[in-house]
Amino acid sequence: MDFTPSERAAELTEAVRAFIRDEIEPLESRLPRPDGDGRWHVPEEVRELRRKARDQGLWNLFLPAGHEGQYAARYGTRGGAGLSNAEYAPVAEATGWSFLAPYVFNCNAPDTGNAEVLLKYGSPEQRDRWLDPLLDGAIRSAFAMTEPGVASSDATNMRLTAVVDGDEVVLDGRKWWTTGVGHPDCRLLIVMGLTDPGAHRYSRHSMVLVPLDTPGVRVERMLDTMGFFDEPFGHGEVSFTNVRVPLSNVIAGPGRAFEIAQGRLGPGRVHHAMRLVGLAERALHLACERGLSRTAFGKPLADLGGNRERIADARIAINSLRLLIMHAAWKLDTEGPLASMSEVSQIKVAAPNVAQQVIDFAMQIHGGAGLSSDFPLAHAWTAARAIRLADGPDEVHRGVIARIELAQHGATR
Ligand SMILES: Cc1cc2nc3c(=O)[nH]c(=O)nc-3n(C[C@H](O)[C@H](O)[C@H](O)COP(=O)(O)OP(=O)(O)OC[C@H]3O[C@@H](n4cnc5c(N)ncnc54)[C@H](O)[C@@H]3O)c2cc1C
Repeated sequence: MDFTPSERAAELTEAVRAFIRDEIEPLESRLPRPDGDGRWHVPEEVRELRRKARDQGLWNLFLPAGHEGQYAARYGTRGGAGLSNAEYAPVAEATGWSFLAPYVFNCNAPDTGNAEVLLKYGSPEQRDRWLDPLLDGAIRSAFAMTEPGVASSDATNMRLTAVVDGDEVVLDGRKWWTTGVGHPDCRLLIVMGLTDPGAHRYSRHSMVLVPLDTPGVRVERMLDTMGFFDEPFGHGEVSFTNVRVPLSNVIAGPGRAFEIAQGRLGPGRVHHAMRLVGLAERALHLACERGLSRTAFGKPLADLGGNRERIADARIAINSLRLLIMHAAWKLDTEGPLASMSEVSQIKVAAPNVAQQVIDFAMQIHGGAGLSSDFPLAHAWTAARAIRLADGPDEVHRGVIARIELAQHGATR
């Protein structure tokens, strides 16, 4: 296999890197913050950066190959660049360098995954109403699966009901960790609900498009992740009380939630994993700079104790991880999501663990500064730690890898 990017992909990766260095890094401290009224806002400078990125064609680059014709015709440069997963992976790595970058390029989770769901499974009407403004950057969206009342690592447990009543669907229940619901432009929730408890366990649930302003939908509170609210997206707890939407808001028809969830997560996990490579690269960069610029006991910090070995181990871990992810991306491109389940689960486990380890070392070599908010390391560590749970805990993914491995030796489960 050959991971040499096409000329177009290499150009785009370089353009994204330059944009982050020249335009985004200087503005990073202007990340959206809560207003006086507790609501988050997006500073005009950040909105301006988004316009600039779009004008330069650095917009929606995550959109999978195969749709560029349709979307290029409709959106011009907003239709993405038709990159394969393997070609987009280095772009995602570049955007991992800065927390702000994925949003500036309209390539942030969960909107990317939601857009892919609409692209693959949405009806023409659903795409017109929701996909167009998402790709245009006019609205944001959230994905509401996890519930406070049940162990949500097993998605068959979801209890919020989405009952068909004539030409409507009625939703009742509660979700939490709904990422993106705090964004001032969030208008849409994709909600997973229980429609038919009597059906096969993978056909009981539906995915329903619920406008955030539907009567009965209430954001009860925002959740912090170890002290960080991840503005402007934020993670919310959301209640649904007798929420009624048209039956045509069910994506691909009732009972298809599991099929949709599977389709949603393959490319998304490559994006997350490569962004974590970018984050780990930044941490190692900061560690080396700090290690060479400060002196203790008559030596640069880099030359004390086992720090050189730690730097070497970090480099080995990051480079190995990148290759593992490139391989998974290549397999997704060539053999599809079903054949790539083990590889995708492998990167889902490996990436946050490697990133967390490298960032932890970078924090340590920064001393007290590493735990402060003067450096992006504490936030980076928290983000890596969170991804060991978000999109399913490590253990569930290890279970998938082991099941596929043991199946080759005759195990039936
Ligand atoms: C920052 C962040 C953002 C998130 N964003 C979203 C979002 O946008 N939308 C959304 O729907 N959800 C989101 N989540 C929720 C996330 O997907 C869930 O937390 C996760 O799936 C686990 O579900 P749970 O919290 O109910 O844990 P539980 O299911 O209660 O599991 C708890 C623990 O049990 C153990 N365990 C579970 N299953 C197994 C197994 N098979 N083998 C061994 N051990 C096991 C693991 O240690 C696991 O961590 C987010 C979470 C975080 C932290």
